[in-house]
Amino acid sequence: MEAPPKSLNHVKHIVLILSGKGGVGKSSVTTQTALTLHAQGYSVGVLDIDLTGPSLPRMFGVEERQVHQSTNGWIPVQVCPKLYLMSLGFLISNRNNSVVWRGPKKTAMIKQFLQDVCWGSESEPLDYLLIDTPPGTSDEHIAIAEELRWANPDGAIIVTTPQQVSTADVRKEINFCNKVNFEVLGIVENMSGFICPYCAECTNIFSSGGGKQLSESLALPYLGNIPIDPSFVELIELQDNNTKGKSLVELYDKCSLKPIMN
Ligand code: ADP
Repeated sequence: MEAPPKSLNHVKHIVLILSGKGGVGKSSVTTQTALTLHAQGYSVGVLDIDLTGPSLPRMFGVEERQVHQSTNGWIPVQVCPKLYLMSLGFLISNRNNSVVWRGPKKTAMIKQFLQDVCWGSESEPLDYLLIDTPPGTSDEHIAIAEELRWANPDGAIIVTTPQQVSTADVRKEINFCNKVNFEVLGIVENMSGFICPYCAECTNIFSSGGGKQLSESLALPYLGNIPIDPSFVELIELQDNNTKGKSLVELYDKCSLKPIMN
């Protein structure tokens, strides 16, 4: 019988972040969840399997960094102590080139990400591995499900937005989770209202409550809503300019977004 990938032996929790559509804030939710867990004292690894559009190196402000090889495999980029990131973005020489890969190549890459990356060790186990996926249910999803079949992942968080609460899309994601035995941990509604930077009042620009309705109709936990927050965008953008080198965690503390995870 095939054995589980050894690199995941020292990972306590594995959570996938999924969405039916692109641009709903899946990578942002992954980033915020990672920073929140890290702020709570956990060690966190983030794996970006959005191979054709890896955005996490930029979001974490570590675009220029490189992955190193050790005798035990690839060492993920350390964003700060106890926070690690692995992404194809670190491995491609020209970030402006598009990644046009067929399914088997994507599958091989994801296999390497799970089997050849040092995610925790006996002396320093990793509390959480968060996996940011591309939208929909594509080759990457099939590959990750295949690779995780031995790893007993905790499950998946599904991200949606109020105006894109398209039952059909979310149902497809849930259907996929059911097929591959990923428990759906719940639904998050992102970009849910706008918080005025001056008076902190929240205005529902789009419709609101769709995520909650959806979770009720599908009998799934509703994890909460995240407003549109200019300070989060600022935080992400700043990483590219004058704040390089500053701790993202320190900056995140100043951002008004409040964690949804507990
Ligand atoms: P996805 O991963 O689903 O494609 P992203 O996380 O890349 O989406 O988000 C798309 C854009 O929306 C990014 O520029 C991000 O900074 C912005 N964004 C996402 N969520 C929020 C939020 N709650 N408040 C403000 N901007 C957000």
